[in-house]
Amino acid sequence: MQYYNSIIDTIGNTPLVRLNRINKGVKGTLLVKVEYFNPGNSVKDRMAVRMVEDAERDGRLRPGGTIIEGTSGNTGMGLALAAIAKGYKCIFTMADKQSLEKIDILRAVGAEVVVCPTNVAPEDPRSYYSIARRLNQEIPNSFYPNQYDNPSNSVAHYETTGPEIWRQTEGEITHFAVGVGTGGTASGTSRYLKEQNSNIVTVGIDTYGSVFKKYKETGEFDEKEVFPYLTEGIGEDILPANVDFAMIDYFVKVTDKDAALMTRRLAREEGLFVGWSCGSAVHGALEYAREHLTDTDVMVIILPDHGTRYLGKIYNDTWMKDHGFLERTFATARDIVHR
Ligand code: PMP
Repeated sequence: MQYYNSIIDTIGNTPLVRLNRINKGVKGTLLVKVEYFNPGNSVKDRMAVRMVEDAERDGRLRPGGTIIEGTSGNTGMGLALAAIAKGYKCIFTMADKQSLEKIDILRAVGAEVVVCPTNVAPEDPRSYYSIARRLNQEIPNSFYPNQYDNPSNSVAHYETTGPEIWRQTEGEITHFAVGVGTGGTASGTSRYLKEQNSNIVTVGIDTYGSVFKKYKETGEFDEKEVFPYLTEGIGEDILPANVDFAMIDYFVKVTDKDAALMTRRLAREEGLFVGWSCGSAVHGALEYAREHLTDTDVMVIILPDHGTRYLGKIYNDTWMKDHGFLERTFATARDIVHR
């Protein structure tokens, strides 16, 4: 019989798919690693399970324990799946800018979700970082993975995402493009790839409103770079320990609008129904590729999650119009029939 012992054993070994239309006029082969094939529909399943298993091994997480994390949703889903498989409870704190779908999805898999204000400083007691820390202090036998600073996050990608890409490209990869949030995917994967071939170039994708690009270029943490933005999952107003700046050669910043429009194109032109930060990654990667790639180059771009979580936002024409991202909603067959 062929079966997995539990759903978390299906994590990883996601497919690599060639872009065929969106990269028109760009030299080289552009491949996307489609992380929504993971059971929690995102790249974060990989590190969530790894954080739980490392904590079990060294006694930070004991039977009957509660996992508490500040998460934009995807890490929460991975942690919730790990918790179900292994018998733990979950409480997540989330910023209120996150999609309602993400909150509902976490509740669907049995987690408790505490929604916190987005536009307060990380050290503010109301922030989702602070609330997660406080719950961890007050709830006995609780474990706070802290994905930002927990080394298991990068290690998961060093041990799975990196080797998969190396194997799938038969060592032909020359460029790696990846959105940076906690930095785990970028740092761990890039470290593995650069150990195989130190010429591989890693392009980190950042958002406007985040500190990463300026910090890479000047070594300065510039608070003037920080302002609210809408893209979910990438960019930060802190420097997480999991961002290893030595593993990221360049940063490209992408606006909320460019990312949203590119995400919609990925769905319509490539059949890749993916999340908002996937549009950021592809838009930023194409900007870099247009200038730097040659015919023989092979670029791999990580697509972190699935489109369902963004149906009420970037895939909704009215929402797009209200945010100034679309000039008008498209005419439907019904509009034409009633004209
Ligand atoms: N995109 C999405 C949708 C995410 O949830 C995350 C995780 N924060 C990322 C990109 C970035 O991944 P990482 O945290 O590994 O940098």
